[in-house]
Amino acid sequence: MTQAPKLGQNFLRDPQASARIAASLGDISQSTIVEIGPGYGAITELLVPRARKVIAVELDHSLALSLRARYSEDRLTVVEQDVLQFDFAAAAAEAGGKLSVVGNLPYYITSPILHRLADAHASLHLAILMVQREVADRVTAEPGTRDYGLLSVTVQLYGPTTDLFTLPPEAFSPPPKVHSTVFRWRLAPRFAELALEPASFITFLRQAFSQKRKTMANNLRAAGLDSARIASALEQAAIPPQARAESLSIESLAALWHALNPPTAPPV
Ligand code: SAM
Repeated sequence: MTQAPKLGQNFLRDPQASARIAASLGDISQSTIVEIGPGYGAITELLVPRARKVIAVELDHSLALSLRARYSEDRLTVVEQDVLQFDFAAAAAEAGGKLSVVGNLPYYITSPILHRLADAHASLHLAILMVQREVADRVTAEPGTRDYGLLSVTVQLYGPTTDLFTLPPEAFSPPPKVHSTVFRWRLAPRFAELALEPASFITFLRQAFSQKRKTMANNLRAAGLDSARIASALEQAAIPPQARAESLSIESLAALWHALNPPTAPPV
């Protein structure tokens, strides 16, 4: 049996793919870029000559050391750290503006990284990320499609996603077992526009999507909500009683959340 590489280390060996990833960031001459997991620098080497500043966050000590030796500190700062501990807000404050993020991600921590970036949304402008193809399919899926679910909604709540391109295993060394897809994520959270309270809405989404085969009404009942309250909220939000969460847009889910959480009347 082949072993999964240490720390999700599948290094890009396709220079055209590196160039497309770097180009997907657009004009970066005035930007500070955070690269997640630079490895041997397949993407980094294209960013350093173009960006105002690059911060490369690498957990592997020997990779961090060799990258640091290649560039002067004023163009590239190598931070030897777990990206899940990286302080995006402090880096944005130091850069004097929002950051762009890029990375051929270590796949073993894809979800935690996406959540970390969502949490850091106020410090971020754009992310260009390579993930396992199946994850990209979910992150960019539209309502009613096979891949649409809780991950699609939670990521897209923080901004629109677009599939960019897919690479076969042979584009990497060692080749992973899966295809990989690069997607773009513009960080532009929708909470204010949809008048949502983030923590409450995300809890509601977890309940609504808890069991894929069940109707949303059944999932909400299982989470302890009253049947009559659910039925009337569905009607108010113009959602059929048998609807499954997987068929609903963020706007419809927001309408349902509002119907379930009417604003409390001001005291008289
Ligand atoms: N960017 C390089 C490339 O495309 O060739 C390397 C990509 S490789 C898929 C993932 C990189 O993330 C590796 O260099 C690995 O050491 C690094 N890494 C793994 N876990 C990490 C973590 N928790 N924080 C930061 N970097 C990590």
